[in-house]
Amino acid sequence: MTFTNREPLLVVLSGPGGVGKGVLAEKLVTQDKDLELSRSWTTRLRRSDEDPQAYKFVSRDDFLHHQDLGGFIEWNEFLGELYGTPAPDPSVSHGILLEIDVAGGKQIKENYSDALLIFVDAPSVKEQRRRLIERGDSEERAEERIIEGERERTEAEVLGYLKVINDDLDETVKIIQEFIDDKRLI
Ligand code: 5GP
Repeated sequence: MTFTNREPLLVVLSGPGGVGKGVLAEKLVTQDKDLELSRSWTTRLRRSDEDPQAYKFVSRDDFLHHQDLGGFIEWNEFLGELYGTPAPDPSVSHGILLEIDVAGGKQIKENYSDALLIFVDAPSVKEQRRRLIERGDSEERAEERIIEGERERTEAEVLGYLKVINDDLDETVKIIQEFIDDKRLI
């Protein structure tokens, strides 16, 4: 799809599971009134403690049907589940924040060369594992996410993602906001 007026800024936030992307994204859209969070579709089941609005939770059939209609600007299969970014309204002028994986970021960059790609990493694998288990992932699922995170880290470097380590939440928000403000000046 193409945007009619000046293209809105697309900001892609990627990073391994448990790194705190969700909290960062919430803080960014709260403080930056020119940025709105895109709500992805997923076939994954909702975690018991998860906000029902975190995703549009759909069946595989509904996802594939929407995909056939060209309803996603990118999509990917992650650990057996489908995730996709719905096409934004072409008339929007505010920036859009996408919390998606690196494979999705690659598709966005291919179609929207002006997109800003940011990779948020955990201070260490040990800390990442601790956060994953704390939020309810099984040991096995946590290990899968850690391995996937390793692969994504390498791919993100190749794609030229800007990188930030989420050690201190407020500091990380500040750094990402600076990346966004700098991009808006271009
Ligand atoms: P989770 O199951 O932890 O919510 O998400 C798993 C992975 O899918 C995360 O890396 C998350 O950023 C990514 N993800 C969430 N929504 C989308 C989307 O719409 N598209 C793509 N490509 N990845 C997504």
